Amino acid sequence: SLELENVTLAYGDVEVVREVSLRVAPGTTTCVIGPSGSGKSTLLRGINRLHEPKSGDVRVAGRSVLKDRPDELRRRIGMVFQHFNLFPDHTALENVALAPWKVKGQSRAQARQVAEDRLREVGLGERMDHRPRDLSGGQQQRVAIARALAMHPEVMLFDEATSALDPELVKGVLRLMADLCRRGMTMVVVTHEMGFARKVADQVVFMDEGEVVEAGTPDQIFDNPRSDRLRTFLSEVL
Ligand code: ATP
Ligand code: MG
Repeated sequence: SLELENVTLAYGDVEVVREVSLRVAPGTTTCVIGPSGSGKSTLLRGINRLHEPKSGDVRVAGRSVLKDRPDELRRRIGMVFQHFNLFPDHTALENVALAPWKVKGQSRAQARQVAEDRLREVGLGERMDHRPRDLSGGQQQRVAIARALAMHPEVMLFDEATSALDPELVKGVLRLMADLCRRGMTMVVVTHEMGFARKVADQVVFMDEGEVVEAGTPDQIFDNPRSDRLRTFLSEVL
């Protein structure tokens, strides 16, 4: 499970995420939706401490991650970004094997095996020796997902993982994310894909101006919004 308790995140004196509390049950997917600038990315970055929370607590499986060393944290929480952030001079295989080898201290052979397995899982068994520039955007994003999975994280975070993709490539990556969900990964997915949120999410969280305004099942959020803010947002995006 992943638990956020009263998490506040600030840039300097400006608090852009205020007192957010959230519980993501083991093996479930929470989608975070909300207008641009509402604090969704900042919240995700606070979970894996790319942005250090100003106050509050983040717990994975009941244990706070706020004191974890960075390498420990990366083992527990995987993250996938809009821009894939792959190492351009490394092959797909090397991109995936690097962290298990360098961070987890596996042998090169073990790391290579893990990387091959993960790349096959995401449908890139035939492309392992390609460099990022020789892969499509969707394939690059699969490599990024495989790279995060190679660390066997307890939780996966996705920040607009399909926003930079050409429309025809979006579906494949969403399908892969839905597969992960079905196989019991615990996930937090920031997305503009309302169809995905409705279909895949166990819980949908609507953020506005740094706060969680509403959280509930997809039915509650999409069919029975309680607040004017959510109703307005939905009328703009649906
Ligand atoms: P989008 O849907 O556009 O990705 P978001 O919900 O992810 O938006 P954030 O990127 O978390 O929003 O930004 C939340 C607030 O924090 C915004 O008001 C933004 O201007 C501000 N902000 C983001 N990054 C910084 C920064 N590096 N320094 C100062 N303020 C920032
Ligand atoms: Mg964002």
